[in-house]
Amino acid sequence: MTAISYNIFMARKNIIAGNWKMNLHYEDAIALAQILIDKIVKKDNRDIVICPPFPYLDKIRHILDKNTIYLGAQDCHEQQNGAHTGDVSAMMLKDIGCDYVIIGHSERRQSYHEDVLLLDRKIKQAHHHGLHVIYCIGETLQQYQTHETLPTLKRQLSILRNYDYRHIRIAYEPFWAIGSGLTPKIPEIQTIHNNIRQELELLTNHDNAQNTHILYGGSVKPDNVGSIASLEDVDGALVGGASLKANDFIAICNSF
Ligand code: PEP
Repeated sequence: MTAISYNIFMARKNIIAGNWKMNLHYEDAIALAQILIDKIVKKDNRDIVICPPFPYLDKIRHILDKNTIYLGAQDCHEQQNGAHTGDVSAMMLKDIGCDYVIIGHSERRQSYHEDVLLLDRKIKQAHHHGLHVIYCIGETLQQYQTHETLPTLKRQLSILRNYDYRHIRIAYEPFWAIGSGLTPKIPEIQTIHNNIRQELELLTNHDNAQNTHILYGGSVKPDNVGSIASLEDVDGALVGGASLKANDFIAICNSF
C-alpha cells in the first residue's frame, strides 16, 4: 500500500484516555480524579478522558464538571435495556453524563470472547446514544510473530463501514503490549497506524480516514510517550497502568 499524503493544515486533536480497569478503592478513585482536575490544564490541541469503573462514574462526573476532562466507561451492553443481570447499557452511561465508551478492549475480547458481530452491536448502541466510541483493535503475540497483524486489524476494522465517524476513535493496542512493558518498535507503530488509516479510506472515505483519531495503547509510560507522540499517525494514547498514577498520567498528557 502506498502511504497517504497529509495536509499539514488538517491537524487532528490528540486524545489521551486513561483506562482504570477494575482498580482502586472508591476513596482513592475520587482522590485521583480530584488531582487530575486540579492539575491538568485544558489545551485546544488535546482532549483528556478518564474511564473509571462503573460504580464510580456518577460521583466522578460531578468532580469533572469543569469540562477539562471527559468521562468515559470501559464497556457497554449490546442492548438498551432488558433482562441482562449485571450489565450496563449505553443509554445509562449517557444518562449519567458519560461522553465516551471503550468497546472491544482486548481483555474483553479474550476473557468474554467478544467477537466483531457483538462489538458491532455495542458500537451501534453507543452510536444511538451519542457516545464517542474508542474502538480497540490489536493482534495477539502469535499473530504478530507470524506477520498476521494487518489481516487481523482489517478483520476487526471491517465492522466500521456505516458509522458516523465524528463519534469513532480507534485505539491500536497490540494484545501483547498491554501491561507487559513491551511495545512494537517506534517506526512499526507509525507504519501500522498509517495502514489503519489506509484501511479506513477503503472502508469509508478520504475525509473520515483523515479525520479519525487513531490512538496507540500498550505500555505507554512517561519515558516512551515522547517518541510515540511524535509519530504522524498517532493521535493520542489509551493508557492503562500509568493512568492510575497521577504524575505519570499528567506527564503522558503533557507530551501531546
Ligand atoms: C490498556 O489496557 O488499554 C492498556 C493500554 O494498558 P497498559 O497501558 O497498562 O499497557
